[in-house]
Amino acid sequence: LQSKLPHVGTTIFTVMSKLAAETGAINLSQGFPGFDCSPELVSLVEHYLRKGFNQYAPMTGVPALREALAQKAFDQYRVAYDPDTEVTVTSGATEALFAAITAVVRPGDEVIVFEPAYDSYVPAIELNGGIPVYVTLTPPDYQIDWQAVGQKITDKTRLILVNTPHNPTGRVWTTDDLQQLADLIQDRDIWIVSDEVYEHILFDHRTHLSLMTHPVLQERTFVVGSFGKTFHITGWKIGYCLAPKDLTTEFRKIHQYLTFSTVTPIQYALADYLNDPDHYRQLPDFYQRKRDLFLAGLSQSRFSFKPAEGSFFQTVSYTNITDEPDYDLAVRLTKEIGVASIPVSVFYQQKNDYRILRFCFAKEDAILQEAAQRLSQL
Ligand code: PMP
Ligand code: GLN
Repeated sequence: LQSKLPHVGTTIFTVMSKLAAETGAINLSQGFPGFDCSPELVSLVEHYLRKGFNQYAPMTGVPALREALAQKAFDQYRVAYDPDTEVTVTSGATEALFAAITAVVRPGDEVIVFEPAYDSYVPAIELNGGIPVYVTLTPPDYQIDWQAVGQKITDKTRLILVNTPHNPTGRVWTTDDLQQLADLIQDRDIWIVSDEVYEHILFDHRTHLSLMTHPVLQERTFVVGSFGKTFHITGWKIGYCLAPKDLTTEFRKIHQYLTFSTVTPIQYALADYLNDPDHYRQLPDFYQRKRDLFLAGLSQSRFSFKPAEGSFFQTVSYTNITDEPDYDLAVRLTKEIGVASIPVSVFYQQKNDYRILRFCFAKEDAILQEAAQRLSQL
């Protein structure tokens, strides 16, 4: 069989988590919480399982969950989405990203991708015949060079992929970023997929600026979210897409043949659970403490870093320690000191020598301290 993705191997998350498991290393590579979700949420799922909510959910998602999502968007961002025509529940953000990209991109279309980029974006673009056009973000600030973005926009540009808070760099968009993007696309046929799965994880009193909060952007944007990050349930694979009606209509044409619908009892449980905003309001404090604990441990090390602005990832530079390629170093540290990380070069298509590793700090405090201690011996 001739590969449709000849340059793609097994995702780095699988590779590094497997190596961590085989070696018994502390796994700070793949991003998932090292602690359980709330027992209340588990009880709610159990309740709906036992009540017999075990058949197909509606293709678009159960009404109560779509209503809760629309209400949350209104409460948080003052934007009204119609739960019937503008909100869709998906099997994780991964499915929503794939469906949104597929709804927009045709063969030959150009898609602006900021790199480092989360690893599912580019394969989805390429499978649809699109051409990724890269704008590089450079450490340690990973600011967007808007002039460079403007120069890369052509008549073929059809989509721009946004991710804030950003995986892997932890950078968070500012009002200026939103305005610059709006100015660039205002009079053009360009759509946006905005990956906002870390919308509740921002630090140092930053607020999340969803792209839906800018009227010019809102009209053209598929806003993608995930419950995995917000409620410590990455294994449940449940996410969603909010988009204006005409965009949602096309989105659903794809979604209905990718998965049709998404796991039923969990949707009912999440609808109940979402009604109490306290369930996600404590996340910034919760994760900021963990970020700071990990960084306090690393302050004794030879790594250099700027604290993440959001997400549950911290990137660090190791130029003071070694000039090995980051992939080799990530493998070596897993085997030799028992700490697994993600080499950030895998998120860049264009070669560079930045020498950055990404660590996930969504772990128990003692684990973070132990990992930082081991890393400080280098
Ligand atoms: N986007 C980003 C930026 C992510 O970090 C992740 C993974 N956690 C996803 C999308 C995928 O989310 P899900 O597990 O809900 O498919
Ligand atoms: N989003 C997670 C990360 O960045 C991993 C998700 C996955 O394994 N596909 O680590």
